[in-house]
Amino acid sequence: MKSFPAKVVAEPAPVPAQVSEKLNLLGLDRKGLEGFFAGVGEKPFRASQILKWVHARGVTDFGEMTDLSKALRGKLADMAEVRVPEAVTDQTSGDGTRKWLLRLDGSNAIETVLIPEKNRDTLCISSQVGCALACTFCSTGYQGFNRNLSAAEIIGQLWYVSRILDREGARRNVTNVVFMGMGEPLLNFKNVLPASELMKDDHAYGLSKRRVTLSTSGVIPYLDRLTEVSDISLAVSLHAPNDALRDELVPINRKYPIAELLAACRRYIADKPHRSITWEYVMLDGVNDTDAHARQLARLLKGIPSKVNLIPFNAFPEAPYARSSDARIRAFSHILSNAGLVATTRKTRGDDIDGACGQLVGRVADRTRRRQKRSEGTQAPQA
Ligand code: SAH
Ligand code: SF4
Repeated sequence: MKSFPAKVVAEPAPVPAQVSEKLNLLGLDRKGLEGFFAGVGEKPFRASQILKWVHARGVTDFGEMTDLSKALRGKLADMAEVRVPEAVTDQTSGDGTRKWLLRLDGSNAIETVLIPEKNRDTLCISSQVGCALACTFCSTGYQGFNRNLSAAEIIGQLWYVSRILDREGARRNVTNVVFMGMGEPLLNFKNVLPASELMKDDHAYGLSKRRVTLSTSGVIPYLDRLTEVSDISLAVSLHAPNDALRDELVPINRKYPIAELLAACRRYIADKPHRSITWEYVMLDGVNDTDAHARQLARLLKGIPSKVNLIPFNAFPEAPYARSSDARIRAFSHILSNAGLVATTRKTRGDDIDGACGQLVGRVADRTRRRQKRSEGTQAPQA
């Protein structure tokens, strides 16, 4: 597949001398905005007005928010702002997948990927810069953890892409959001939750709970918190049908082993009728892809409403793995289907622009840095 050169849409800005002290309203969900307005003596319905202006219409200047009184517009301008991300590059893959590098601050940037399909346009967003969980097949894991994204930086990815698509007169806007970019979303729970609420809010983006999917490697205490407060769709990175292998591939499994993870997943869907868990399973040649693994996986998931999503491994320089052959993936999938499981194989998209799962990195200079580290013999970070 031919790769397209990155279109530079802005020059990297110097590190700002002073970070703004004003509250960024972009990251406040309805509850957060109602709390903010209560604090300044305003009625709760102001929250709906702001949500519509900022997220549905893309307006960031309080002066343009004409259904607010002049006095309130002035008050907002004094104490708050709507600070949105900027893109550094905008790349389109040979298959139509599009990737933006969004600038966060002086040295950090995150990648956001839009995957167009026949019936939907899915935005794959990041929740952290890097990740601390060090899964051995994941490029982000090798990078290590840098920092959590704020709620504004998380929802800012959807805000930005929605504006671009509006401006370009695209046939439709983002229809689905998946937390499958960089980072472990449950380890940034306090910011991921309001961002996901904004995605679902009718006055903001109005996506249904089925169209917002959180993908996790299984941080059980936060999964249980999610069970209490949210109804978004859940995808779980399983990748192995037994603890010995999963301990190796997904090191967090040593802390939260498979049996406990499955129990937490059952709790997640217990009070949510007609919902299922999507299990992600990366296909690694000769590691987790044999017939015996498939049979073990089918036994493991028996009785849990499930979909299994097989992900052909996306290679990157440090990874000690190869992708399973297409024939092997088909045979594996066949065993799962015969056992009554719904199994799909993810089409690899955007790999020519490093936009596929597990290929996202957080810094403009990261590849060079990692290459240097490799040649210096630095070890991959441990969980
Ligand atoms: N931290 C979360 C979400 C981000 S990773 C999680 O682990 O679920 C999103 C998905 O991409 C996960 O299923 C992850 O296992 C998968 N992934 C990571 N690296 C990959 C690679 N090199 N090839 C294919 N899939 C990969
Ligand atoms: Fe982190 Fe997910 Fe990558 Fe594991 S697969 S290192 S949890 S981003």
